[in-house]
Amino acid sequence: MKPPTIAFTMDQSPAADVRPFARGRDLYFINAAYVRYLEGADCLPLALPTLLDHSRIPALIAGIDGLLLTGGDDVYAGAYGEQVIPGQWRIDPPRTFFEIELVREALRQHKPLFGICRGCQMINVARGGSLWQDIASQVPGARQHRSPESPTLTYHPAAITAGSRLHAIIGRESLTVNSSHHQAIKTLASPLQITARAEDGIVEGIELPGEDFVLGVQWHPETMDEMGSSRALLEAFLASCREKSAER
Ligand code: MN
Repeated sequence: MKPPTIAFTMDQSPAADVRPFARGRDLYFINAAYVRYLEGADCLPLALPTLLDHSRIPALIAGIDGLLLTGGDDVYAGAYGEQVIPGQWRIDPPRTFFEIELVREALRQHKPLFGICRGCQMINVARGGSLWQDIASQVPGARQHRSPESPTLTYHPAAITAGSRLHAIIGRESLTVNSSHHQAIKTLASPLQITARAEDGIVEGIELPGEDFVLGVQWHPETMDEMGSSRALLEAFLASCREKSAER
């Protein structure tokens, strides 16, 4: 059987980037860890940059077997009806609106959907949910979810909801996860369900109940030291994608 084709979304570096090769140019890019993560399994990774014209999204989704929503700059708060809190963070409105349409079309076509970090948040926003724009300033008592020194230094435990798909995949009710986010899910869109939380209550995982594989994690399996759960997540996603591939 042909390996499933997995499209992954990308980040953008605006023309203001000071690096010589990038100066004056908008660039689309992706952390190589996502590519290595997909490359380590039996699938065909396909980079999907933000498109400003959304008219081809139905055909794009029809042409793939699964969609990986990657991490990146902040989701645009206007997409869930809030004013942006000014801060030092980069926001990507074009990507936000593009990914909202990608998620909705993937749901319409019952294509497997795997969201990592920002991607987990995007699944919620596309369904009508909202986010904490900045955990540190908006959620009193929350622990640090992003290290100022390094995006991979912070780890914390996450409690996994028994009976969830996530629980079935990982096979345990507690997991130490890495943490590199300053935003998080605030109001959850129906009918999504929360599948993991940090001890401070911050949402660390969501999924859509039912047949379709629609699952998001707030951590970064592609850069986890503890790769057993990360590998299991990717393999579960790809197993659903292979079923879709067989139907095409
Ligand atoms: Mn976290």
